Amino acid sequence: MTVLITGGAGYIGSHCGVAFLEAGYDIVVIDNLSNSSDVSLQRIEAITGQKVPCEIADIRDQSKLEEILVKHKCSAVVHFAGLKAVGESTKMPLAYYENNVVGTHRLLSAMANTGVKQMIFSSSATVYGEPQFLPLTEDHPTSAVNPYGRTKLMIEEMLGDVAASDPAWRFGILRYFNPVGAHLSGQIGENPLGVPNNLMPFITQVADGRREQLSVFGNDYDTRDGTGIRDYIHVTDLVEGHLRAHEVLASGSAPSNCFAVNLGTGNGYSVLEMVRAFERASNKEIRYAFAPRRDGDVAECYANTELAEKVLDWKADRDLDAMCRDTWNWVCKNPRGYETSAD
Ligand code: NAD
Ligand code: UDP
Repeated sequence: MTVLITGGAGYIGSHCGVAFLEAGYDIVVIDNLSNSSDVSLQRIEAITGQKVPCEIADIRDQSKLEEILVKHKCSAVVHFAGLKAVGESTKMPLAYYENNVVGTHRLLSAMANTGVKQMIFSSSATVYGEPQFLPLTEDHPTSAVNPYGRTKLMIEEMLGDVAASDPAWRFGILRYFNPVGAHLSGQIGENPLGVPNNLMPFITQVADGRREQLSVFGNDYDTRDGTGIRDYIHVTDLVEGHLRAHEVLASGSAPSNCFAVNLGTGNGYSVLEMVRAFERASNKEIRYAFAPRRDGDVAECYANTELAEKVLDWKADRDLDAMCRDTWNWVCKNPRGYETSAD
């Protein structure tokens, strides 16, 4: 059974490739390398000892997608490819709608034309907007406050419509909370280009001396220490959730032919708690200064994980220290990401 992984050279996709190969599946990757390096594919091969067929192509190229699905006899898709930076999405909304929404439309059309009817989709907790209650359950109202979030919501709705049109379709929508960490080997990890937007990559760049200090966006939230609280989840736990979702969809044991579940730990940590955890893991001081709140940020966001436990029989089990330790191991082994490995 071959699984097509779109965006398989990227951060989460590369970890997913390892998990699927290790579980005995054949995979094929499609990635246009717009936010990744093909070195990650070599690393997947090094970790698993298996070849990773990869097509350097764009998911907007429907005929290429059809060719790949047929050539590799794919039976399912795990769909990561897309643009993901919230701030950039407000400056380049058309690029986001085209890559994410049009790209997914082409992918679904290619799947329809080749008879491949199973997909796992990378959604995000951003679809919940400003939390009306916590922890967030999957039936919390959805809303989006930026173009990136709107692309995720539009795609979720598109999948719902396609599923309703024909019961043969099977979709698993996975709403990620805050993925962090890296593979235990330190061979693959997050490789942000330019100034990181997210907390964990920024902290790592302060730890390794690339940046002076962290700006902590807001210390006047109504939280235990005034800084923002998020549900950080180890990327290895996250991709194990994908494996379970794939198995549930393939075995026909899903609760419906289009279900959405949260992938989080259910625990919230503040920015200052993250700083301290990273200091423990790296034995480095993380300098920081308080700065104004970042536009669009919510005070607190963490998952109710009961539905994932029930539907997927899955629970994240790596703790915050493991998330920080594995991130630091990856950074120490690859001081400049994939371009300059320390090996
Ligand atoms: P990433 O940028 O590392 O990976 C995405 C991959 O898709 C990259 O390798 C990129 O080159 C590729 N890609 C982008 N547009 C493409 C296109 N048109 N055709 C082919 N390839 C294309 O990002 P990631 O962190 O691994 O995220 C994967 C998915 O998970 C994304 O859809 C993202 O929106 C979603 N997600 C990520 C997070 C997070 O914090 N990392 C949180 C929630 C949801
Ligand atoms: N954050 C911060 N400084 C940074 C980046 C992020 O203080 O340089 C805070 C941010 O305000 C939020 C938390 O860290 O409270 C997580 O932010 P991230 O961008 O990683 O995730 P998201 O906000 O998308 O959940």
